[in-house]
Amino acid sequence: MKPIKLGSSFSLVASVLARNVHAQCQGAEVITRDIAIVGGGATGTYAAINLKDQGKSIIVIEKRGALGGHTSTYHDPTTGTPINYGLQLYHDDEVSRSFFALLNITVSGGTFPISKIPLYIDFTDGSPVLNYSIPPLNEDYFQALHKYPYLENGLELPDPVPEELLLTWAEYMEQFNLTDDAIATYSRPAVPGDLTKILALYVFNNLNTVMLEEELEGKIIVNANGDLAEPYSNALAELGSDVLLNSVVTDGQRGSKPADGVRLCVSTPEGSKRVIAKQLVFSAPPVLENLEPFGLDERETNIISQFEGGFYYTGVVTNLGLPTNYSYVNRGQKTQSHVASLPGVVMFNPTNVEGTYYYWYTSLSDLTKEQVETETRDTLKLLQKTVAGADANAEPQFVAYKSHTPLHPTASADAIRKGIYRDIYSLQGYRNTWYTGSLLVTGSSQLWNITSQLLPRIIAASEQ
Ligand SMILES: Cc1cc2nc3c(=O)[nH]c(=O)nc-3n(C[C@H](O)[C@H](O)[C@H](O)COP(=O)(O)OP(=O)(O)OC[C@H]3O[C@@H](n4cnc5c(N)ncnc54)[C@H](O)[C@@H]3O)c2cc1C
Repeated sequence: MKPIKLGSSFSLVASVLARNVHAQCQGAEVITRDIAIVGGGATGTYAAINLKDQGKSIIVIEKRGALGGHTSTYHDPTTGTPINYGLQLYHDDEVSRSFFALLNITVSGGTFPISKIPLYIDFTDGSPVLNYSIPPLNEDYFQALHKYPYLENGLELPDPVPEELLLTWAEYMEQFNLTDDAIATYSRPAVPGDLTKILALYVFNNLNTVMLEEELEGKIIVNANGDLAEPYSNALAELGSDVLLNSVVTDGQRGSKPADGVRLCVSTPEGSKRVIAKQLVFSAPPVLENLEPFGLDERETNIISQFEGGFYYTGVVTNLGLPTNYSYVNRGQKTQSHVASLPGVVMFNPTNVEGTYYYWYTSLSDLTKEQVETETRDTLKLLQKTVAGADANAEPQFVAYKSHTPLHPTASADAIRKGIYRDIYSLQGYRNTWYTGSLLVTGSSQLWNITSQLLPRIIAASEQ
C-alpha cells in the first residue's frame, strides 16, 4: 500500500468544516480522511481497499458488526465447516481476481451450490408439483437479451425507453412468445418479490450475459477454503481502524463544491465521532431511509424516493426432520410458470454438513427475524407431514439468520419512463457524493467492475 498524504488545502477546509458540525457531535473525536465510505458490503469494501491501495485515506462506516453485506457464513460448531448461506459464488473475471489478490485470497474454480435431487413442492399445502423440473434456457431468451445490450452492465437506457421493457415479465413473455424457461432460470438467484410482476428490464439486467456465463459455462470462482466471508475478514484486518463497525451516520452535510467536502456525525459503539472528508462514497442501499440523515436536497429526494428495495431473508436450520438426500424447492401448484406463492421460503438447500440446510425467504413486506423463523418452521412442519420418510416429531433448530432487506432497489415503470436512471446517473459526484451500490446491476463482480470505473473520478474529485 502507498503512504497516505493529506493535502494542506484540505486541512484548511477541514478545520473550517470542523467548526460547523452538528450539536450531537460537538466535542467528539474528529476523523479526517480523503474519502468516507458508507456501507462495507461488496462495493464499499472494494472501494475502500482499492482507494487505500492508491494512496487515499478512507474511513468505512458500516451498520453491522462485520464487513461483507450479503455474504453470510456460519461455521458448523462441531466440524468448523463454513456454510455460506447468503452469497454463493463470484464471476471469474479480471476485476474479481485482482480484488482477491489484494486481499491475499486463494481462489479456485467453483460450481453452483451443491444441490441434491430437487423436490419441487408447493409450500402452501405441501403437495408435490409433479412432472416439473427447471428446463434449460431456450434460444428465444438469448435472442431477446441481445436486443438490449445497454442492460448488460448497468442501466444507461435509451430515450425513450422501449415500452416493451416496461412490461411485467409475464406480459413480456406472452407478447414475445417466450417459453416459461426464462422465468424458471431467473428464479435461481436471490430475486426478491413476485417474479411474474418484475419488469422485463430488470429480468434482462439481472439474467444477463455475465450471469449466464456463470450458470451455463461455469465461469465461477470461490475462495479455495470455501469460506466466502474470508475476503471481508481479510479486508477488515487490512483496513483496521479505518472501519467503524456497528456505526451509522446520524447527520450529514455535503457541500456543493469539491472544496466544501463532506462532514458527518457518526454514532459508533464508542460514542459519536465527526468525520470530515473530501468525498463521500455511498455504497449502502440508496433508499430514502438510509440517505435521509445526509441532508438530501429536493433534487436528490425526488430521485432517491422513487427507489424501493425488496424483502429477502436467509438462514441456517438443522434437524429438519426431512430426508437429507434432497433439496426442497418451493413451486406453485397452480400459479403462472409455477412461481412460488409469497411470502414464503424459496428453498431449503443442503450444505456440506449432513442434515444442515440453508434457506432463503422472500416476502412483499418487511418481516422480523421471529416472523421469518416462525413461518419457516411452519413450512417445515407441513413438509414433515407430506414428504415420504419425514419425521413429524423433529423440532427444527434455527442456528443462523440474516435480513438482506432492502435488496436491489428498483423503480416503477412510470419512473423509468420519465428517466429515473438518467437522473440517478446524473447524481454521480453531485454534492461530493458517489453511488456504487447495487442499483445498476446485481452481481458482485459486475458491481466491482462498475465501481472500478468510478474510482478514478472519485479520486480526481478528491484532489480538486
Ligand atoms: C441471498 C443472496 C445471495 C446472493 N448471491 C450472490 C452470488 O452468489 N454472487 C453474486 O455475485 N452476487 C450475489 N448476490 C448479490 C450480491 O450480494 C449483491 O448484489 C452485492 O452484495 C451488492 O453489493 P453492495 O455493495 O451494493 O451491497 P451490500 O453488499 O449489501 O453492502 C451494503 C452494506 O451497507 C450496509 N448498510 C446498510 N445500510 C446502512 C446504513 N444506513 N449505514 C451504514 N451501512 C449500511 C449493509 O450492512 C451492507 O454491509 C446475492 C444476494 C443475496 C441477497
